Amino acid sequence: MSIIERPLARSDPSYRYQATEGLIVRLLASFSELVRLGAAYDRAPCYPEQSMAILIETGAQAHFAPPESGGAMFRDALEENTSLFDVLRIVGRSDLSLGRLFEGHINAMKLFGWFGTSVQKHALYDRLQKGALYGVWATEPPPGVEIHRGKSGRILEGRKMFASGAGGLNFAIITARTPEGEVQLISVPGNVGKRADTSRWLVRGMRSTMSGTYDVSGFEPGNQDYLGKPGDYAIEPRFTAGAWRFLAVQLGGIEALLAETRTNMSDNARSDPLQRQKFGEAVASARTAYLWVREAARRAAEESVDAPSVVRMARGVVERSALDVMELSARIVGTRSAFDDQRIDKIIRDLGLYLRQAGPDQARDQAAIAWLDHDAWGDGDLLW
Ligand SMILES: Cc1cc2nc3c(=O)[nH]c(=O)nc-3n(C[C@H](O)[C@H](O)[C@H](O)COP(=O)(O)OP(=O)(O)OC[C@H]3O[C@@H](n4cnc5c(N)ncnc54)[C@H](O)[C@@H]3O)c2cc1C
Repeated sequence: MSIIERPLARSDPSYRYQATEGLIVRLLASFSELVRLGAAYDRAPCYPEQSMAILIETGAQAHFAPPESGGAMFRDALEENTSLFDVLRIVGRSDLSLGRLFEGHINAMKLFGWFGTSVQKHALYDRLQKGALYGVWATEPPPGVEIHRGKSGRILEGRKMFASGAGGLNFAIITARTPEGEVQLISVPGNVGKRADTSRWLVRGMRSTMSGTYDVSGFEPGNQDYLGKPGDYAIEPRFTAGAWRFLAVQLGGIEALLAETRTNMSDNARSDPLQRQKFGEAVASARTAYLWVREAARRAAEESVDAPSVVRMARGVVERSALDVMELSARIVGTRSAFDDQRIDKIIRDLGLYLRQAGPDQARDQAAIAWLDHDAWGDGDLLW
């Protein structure tokens, strides 16, 4: 059993997550298969149907849905995030493309939990039972998706871009602008083939996310498709702090890269102090990211006012950690790390692209601005 298949220690020893024990065991049992499938989908990119099916079989698809929709009953938000932190890391370790798709599905489940009516949550139960998977598609080329008043009701116009799982996912929660200029969440079918265009998703990593464009023009949403009120999507601190979830997936990639690097470290390299130093730096870097993301998950659960600042700062830490471990891995393992069939090569390609989430420099700058104003670390431990 390799290091990345061994059961995880509790992320927070004081916080057992009984509700998720079984899911973790089932995910770890499927781990090798997810790795194998991830490599195959990377070679011949398409929507990773089989990997997604495993997420359904293991129960990961429904686990973080609202309880009324069949999700687990957590004691509180901290137990939920502690569980989710480990689940996202495991999926990310197996395959970052799958992790991205899964994280999108989780984001949609959170939106249902926060803004769904009782009727919508029960309808979600039926859909999840039938194997439905969701995405959240916000990114769009100008002018973006707009809601127009049609003759028989409201009608959508426009398309989304970087829409992970376009044409493959059953549904997506999209953002659309109301005639009054506000942002409204709407559930749309995500698997209408003719609306999806993934032909230009020709990328060096994250290939099987199939993050293409999706045209929603002409779709007439019914009342049941409107999730929450205009403006709900960007409510803080949830909106910004929610970034901790993609950080947990990226962290999984960093951890997998570290473990692979160790496995591929030759005897010569292991007996060389210079190479050992690099390995030590990679361990410290990966665990630094771990500590920040774990903390970010906790702050997000508490919904503290400074949670967005801690998460923004964590984004910079994770980006730096990923870039460092990617470089150190290539230097420790050498040329072999760049070959097509090497897992190290795939993880480096995937991570390199996945780090390009929106506005990374701005996130760090906003965090610095907050810290200049006050010690945003908070937690009863203020330096100023
Ligand atoms: C694999 C993958 C999957 C994705 N899946 C989805 C999905 O399912 N749904 C979805 O909605 N989106 C998705 N996205 C999109 C993602 O969330 C980001 O919107 C996108 O990656 C940002 O792309 P960008 O780097 O071109 O843009 P930007 O973030 O705009 O960055 C471009 C450059 O401009 C700079 N910049 C940006 N804003 C400013 C500013 N205000 N001031 C100064 N400089 C600025 C940035 O720092 C950066 O250097 C996905 C992206 C990837 C890579």
